[in-house]
Amino acid sequence: MAKLSAPCPICRKAAKQSQLTAGDYLEFDCSDCGYFQISRAFQQVASKTAGFHEAAIT
Ligand SMILES: [Zn+2]
Repeated sequence: MAKLSAPCPICRKAAKQSQLTAGDYLEFDCSDCGYFQISRAFQQVASKTAGFHEAAIT
């Protein structure tokens, strides 16, 4: 499984990203947000949505 350096979709900090071979999900390991999985579609929405950061924190 390839590990990539990618910006966290939530906080935008540097995080590790793994692309799963099964399903349409990405794993992130972020020092701030922890370990989580998101769908590729969610990542695309999050990266384009203004104010997502604030919404995620509150
Ligand atoms: Zn993060």
